[in-house]
Amino acid sequence: MSYLTAQPAERILLGPGPSPVPQRVLRALSAPTLGHLDPQYLTIMDETCAMLREVFGTKNALTFPVSGTGMAGMECCAVNLVEPGDEVIVCVNGVFGARMKDVMERCGAVVHALEAPWGEGYTIEQITAKLDQHPKAKVFAIVQAETSTGALQPLEGIADVVHARGALLLVDAVTSLGGHELKVDAWGIDAIYSGTQKCLSCPPGLSPVSFGDRALARMDARKTKVQSWYLDVSMLRKYYTGGSGAGGGRVYHHTAPINMTYALREALVMVLEEGLDARIARHAAMHQRLRAGLADLGLGYIPSRSLHSLNCIRIPEGANDGAVRGRLLTEYGIEIGAGLGVMAGKAWRIGLMGHGSNVRNVDLVLAALRNILK
Ligand SMILES: *Cc1c(COP(=O)(O)O)cnc(C)c1O
Repeated sequence: MSYLTAQPAERILLGPGPSPVPQRVLRALSAPTLGHLDPQYLTIMDETCAMLREVFGTKNALTFPVSGTGMAGMECCAVNLVEPGDEVIVCVNGVFGARMKDVMERCGAVVHALEAPWGEGYTIEQITAKLDQHPKAKVFAIVQAETSTGALQPLEGIADVVHARGALLLVDAVTSLGGHELKVDAWGIDAIYSGTQKCLSCPPGLSPVSFGDRALARMDARKTKVQSWYLDVSMLRKYYTGGSGAGGGRVYHHTAPINMTYALREALVMVLEEGLDARIARHAAMHQRLRAGLADLGLGYIPSRSLHSLNCIRIPEGANDGAVRGRLLTEYGIEIGAGLGVMAGKAWRIGLMGHGSNVRNVDLVLAALRNILK
């Protein structure tokens, strides 16, 4: 008799994440578990953070993987940057913007939502007008890659108008890091979070974050304790960035997810071996290949400015949403995403993230859709 009734099959993960994980990363995950204060592990963590800086495009010392998935990174940024009563502006044009608003409200923030139709982005003029309407806003939060709608939000220039009004720029880069252009320092981003299981092609479980000097100054000036013990950066930084003294001055806070760090380090090595620019170009090329093939099938996109990592397409008239996705999974082993929120039943979401963004997968999902829809 077996206690187990299901075993993980080798799916082709073309949904909104997780993305396919290369064997190299899975092998790294299975290396011997070290202690979280073992000098070898601290070296591995330091190397991981150094590569994260490179991929984020930042020199921020406080760059590290939060223990937890992307949502933990979102909460980490919110709880550390916001005190009860603070005014913040959150851009809400999809599920993740809406979540950010919810998380901010749970921190006691007074949230002013800048709404846009799902699938649309924001112009600098809209952002400036909202900032001027709420001059006391301390944080301006925006999603670069809105996975629920597939819309890309350009970020260049936003920091100038945000900083000119004394606010901090917080960015959700969960579905963009490692797949889309992202320059934390050059674009003036003060705080940012991402995830491992999207364009980095690592299993879910860590959330890379980075905080710049303005964000640090805001945290140091807090009058109240951070609401979350687990995500309190004033304590976490004593472990992740260390200091002088024995063990590099590292102070135990919680046991880091040791083996996940090995996996992330390997995934980052793969990003840098390919080259960040080449990787971003590959995501763009595979998006174009898919877009052209979908057009041949008569399938169109919902967002006006689409992500390369996530393709949100309109379900054609007469197609049965659940049945098509079910057949893709059972007959072809392909996972794609359903519509989320107001897009439920209206959209399919095809992720081409990290390791999964290749010619084989694009042509396979197109062929499978052609067979199923005919
Ligand atoms: C996936 C995602 C998240 C949440 O990440 P989890 O790893 O599921 O916790 C947050 N924001 C965006 C834009 C995402 O795509």
